[in-house]
Amino acid sequence: MSQYPELKLFIGGEWRQATGEPVLNPATQAILGSVPRATPRDLDDALQSAEEGFRVWSRTAPDKRAEIINKAAEILRSRAEQVATVLTLEQGKPIGQSRSEVLRSCDILEWDAQEGRRLYGRVIPSGPGMRHSVLRQPIGVVAAFSPWNFPIASPARKVGAALATGCALILKASEETPASALELVRAFDDAGLPPGVLNLVFGDPAEISEYLIPQPVVRMVTFTGSVSIGKQLTAMAGAHMKPVIMELGGHSPVIVCADVDPSVSAAQCTTAKARNAGQICTSPTRFFVEDAAYDEFVDAMATKAASLKIGDGLDHETELGPLANMRRVAAMEVLVEDAIAKGARLNTGGSKCAGEGNFFPLTVLSDVPLDAKAMNEEPFGPLALITRVESLEEAIQKANATPFGLAGYALTDSAKKANRLYEELEVGNLSINHFVASIAETPFGGIKDSGFGREGGVEGLHGYTVVKNVSHLMT
Ligand code: NAD
Repeated sequence: MSQYPELKLFIGGEWRQATGEPVLNPATQAILGSVPRATPRDLDDALQSAEEGFRVWSRTAPDKRAEIINKAAEILRSRAEQVATVLTLEQGKPIGQSRSEVLRSCDILEWDAQEGRRLYGRVIPSGPGMRHSVLRQPIGVVAAFSPWNFPIASPARKVGAALATGCALILKASEETPASALELVRAFDDAGLPPGVLNLVFGDPAEISEYLIPQPVVRMVTFTGSVSIGKQLTAMAGAHMKPVIMELGGHSPVIVCADVDPSVSAAQCTTAKARNAGQICTSPTRFFVEDAAYDEFVDAMATKAASLKIGDGLDHETELGPLANMRRVAAMEVLVEDAIAKGARLNTGGSKCAGEGNFFPLTVLSDVPLDAKAMNEEPFGPLALITRVESLEEAIQKANATPFGLAGYALTDSAKKANRLYEELEVGNLSINHFVASIAETPFGGIKDSGFGREGGVEGLHGYTVVKNVSHLMT
């Protein structure tokens, strides 16, 4: 029996079949299945179901909601191996990374479930006979759009926070990686989530967002994806006065100070860059290395990058899987060619691996000029761009020079330098001496073109609520 599930829509608690487009395995180009395409009728049904689901779920006690979310997490955890295999088949990342993603999704759901029980309001001191109370209430039905690079963790972030606060959702997950989202939804179905609270659709992304966002039933929009689409959806939501959470692209700087070991730092940076073949909005990309550490850092990074084992993510020895689609391969080729033409040095990698599959090596470019396309457009692939800097001042100025502001990293043992970065690096998430941008408990999100709103942490839940002030004069 194939490990890949049959793909369906999930509307009003029922699985629906429909015809659609093929889903490809990026390592082999084999067809895995066919992703159904929702019709306007399906979307109308999803809207009606979500409206009914919201009525039921928002009136369900928070501890009961937490019980169902926790149950879904427990079911998903018990299926981690199978779901990780499905994730690697359709997205390509090495199986160990897929397993971690599934388990991290469970952690997120469990944390959200508990935090949903602590959505406290406040009572404001007032005069005799008067009571001012502030309530936090679920915003309503959410239209959620999730991408292909974290096909289960990204939907889990949205679903966990929305359900924990009492909202209902219509989730449009990526058509390129539909089965991972389907497995998440199946866990909720099996956990006893009432019908209509969580609906899953696929189809033409633009048609679905244009149909759903203006609908009065939809009260909020959350999207993870590119800056350009994020701006379009924000404008559409704004025209209907609907709040958004936008997790958009990044172009993460890494500041490597001369006080750390260049070879050890280069090894750390390479491992972080190789994760998900660089297809992460927080992937470390622009490496600003202080002069004294520069040459050793470049050599060590190139050597480590060239040693990575490239292959099918299902092979347990693979360190770098295929890119998720051919668009990314084409984008890497354009960016590398442009950087070299503008004077960058190619230290390793640089072109698609021979044979079938979307394999592209981890490519290290040094002396990359600031006007190279890759320094300004999010590569979203396995490119490491290294630039020499003379001082922390210069590194910060160059790091802040793009319209992006998602994640940033620094490697330094100096508290003084670190403190300056706390203050001056223009990012939503700064990690010093490690490369984990966020965990379930911490708020994650960007500034500038990287978006607004937060996922994770208390802030993540607050995004799905509205504040109501009640003033009660007791006569
Ligand atoms: P894209 O801009 O076509 O799509 C990005 C995502 O948005 C996909 O999941 C897609 O299904 C969805 N989408 C596209 N048009 C939409 C619409 N009108 N309404 C609703 N959803 C829509 O690009 P792509 O080729 O899939 O990915 C490339 C770029 O996307 C990358 O360079 C990267 O910047 C960005 N991206 C970012 C993230 C992230 O985590 N922030 C994730 C995936 C992709």
